[in-house]
Amino acid sequence: MKRDIRLNEPMARHTTFRIGGPAERFFVPSGIGDLRAFLEECPREEPMTLIGAGSNLLVSDDGIRGTVIHLGAFQSVRLDEDRLLSGAGVMLPGLLQQLARQGLGGLEFLGGIPGTVGGGVRMNAGTEGGWIADRLLSVTYLHASGALQRKRHEEITFGYRRMDLPEGTCIVGAEFRLEPDDPMRIAERLRERMAKRRKTQPIHLASAGCIFKNPPGDAAGRLIEAAGLKGARIGDAEVSPLHANFVVNRGKARASDVLSLIRRIQERVREDTGVDLEFEIEMIGVFEKGAVS
Ligand SMILES: Cc1cc2nc3c(=O)[nH]c(=O)nc-3n(C[C@H](O)[C@H](O)[C@H](O)COP(=O)(O)OP(=O)(O)OC[C@H]3O[C@@H](n4cnc5c(N)ncnc54)[C@H](O)[C@@H]3O)c2cc1C
Repeated sequence: MKRDIRLNEPMARHTTFRIGGPAERFFVPSGIGDLRAFLEECPREEPMTLIGAGSNLLVSDDGIRGTVIHLGAFQSVRLDEDRLLSGAGVMLPGLLQQLARQGLGGLEFLGGIPGTVGGGVRMNAGTEGGWIADRLLSVTYLHASGALQRKRHEEITFGYRRMDLPEGTCIVGAEFRLEPDDPMRIAERLRERMAKRRKTQPIHLASAGCIFKNPPGDAAGRLIEAAGLKGARIGDAEVSPLHANFVVNRGKARASDVLSLIRRIQERVREDTGVDLEFEIEMIGVFEKGAVS
């Protein structure tokens, strides 16, 4: 079978920011065998970047060197009573709807996160309702050596938007513990979450969600709003007037516009409060030296 490898694939097509120059090579493996064979054949020095739905990424205007790997074909969903085994490429919103129909709850707090299972686990995605790690039983991943491994929850350390699997690890699937419940009640909880998001977040505009992590005991959005930056704009990149921790792409924003804007935010908040806001989004590709911290 012919491999799905595209050359110079525009990354703006694969990020929720709708921003990003071309990936030198963009590979969509058909399954674990294809992925493993590709990794074995690739020269060691080939840079590899994994992406899920690209919903937490700012990709540079100059694009990404080497190969971007997208696990879009890893779509298996297997249920065994209250256990779910999901492929890494499964999108969370659709998965939550499917589980609701089947009367399986426990993950509703992730409602409205527009990412994949793999990206969610890697980021330890979460909301005020909890972290994805809270429901995770195990993670299956392909180690850079080509070995397929499985780690149980207790063997992994999780933190705020991080987990400690080795660098270069490719998560291929994850196992979760669910809670049987009335399908109507689960669906209602999901609807409530989405209604709250629609009120408080610019979910109809292109963005990568919250730009900064919340500093201990405070909210990054509150600090940015207090600095008077709601609505601040560079090019088509704008600090959302609805939620100050979101930068939105008003149309033709470039990664350089977003970066200049978020640097301005960092500087102003540091001057006003002494707080150093840390990035929650990840920057991928070639950015000017010293730009990423
Ligand atoms: C409107 C909006 C709202 C959001 N709300 C939230 C929220 O409430 N809570 C929250 O936590 N996040 C939120 N986010 C951010 C984002 O959706 C999450 O971080 C999500 O988990 C990222 O998943 P992804 O599949 O898009 O990963 P990507 O953005 O594609 O990748 C994120 C990271 O995971 C790595 N990765 C992706 N897939 C794999 C894999 N299979 N194996 C190993 N590494 C992998 C990538 O290399 C990268 O480092 C929001 C984003 C948007 C646009």
